[in-house]
Amino acid sequence: MTVGKFRNHKAYPKPRHQRRYLLPHACLQCRKAFRKPPAAQAYRCPHCAATLIELGRNFCAPARSDTDQWNTVAFLLQRGFRFRTLYAPHDDGSCRRVSYPATLAQAREFVIRYASSLRPPPS
Ligand SMILES: [Zn+2]
Repeated sequence: MTVGKFRNHKAYPKPRHQRRYLLPHACLQCRKAFRKPPAAQAYRCPHCAATLIELGRNFCAPARSDTDQWNTVAFLLQRGFRFRTLYAPHDDGSCRRVSYPATLAQAREFVIRYASSLRPPPS
């Protein structure tokens, strides 16, 4: 085979429904996350059939055994933070991206500080 005849994957584009972004969807009961395309109807957990919570692309699922981290995730979700990108004004007048907290203690401060910058989820 010569290089000139090689046809890469771009010659065979995927159907439109397969080209969409995959977003993490978390099940707090099973402490698992699944990457699925955004949908109008909520997905169900394949293990416990609970409703999966759609999260932003910033979410990185903790290990299943790391219950402290999952408690932090649950704490943030209960208060409306869905791991979407947050921006906050900085000292020099610009808006900068805010990183999500790592521990429950940091999450408590985070919720108080950034509750006003929450936007309603896109419908
Ligand atoms: Zn589940």
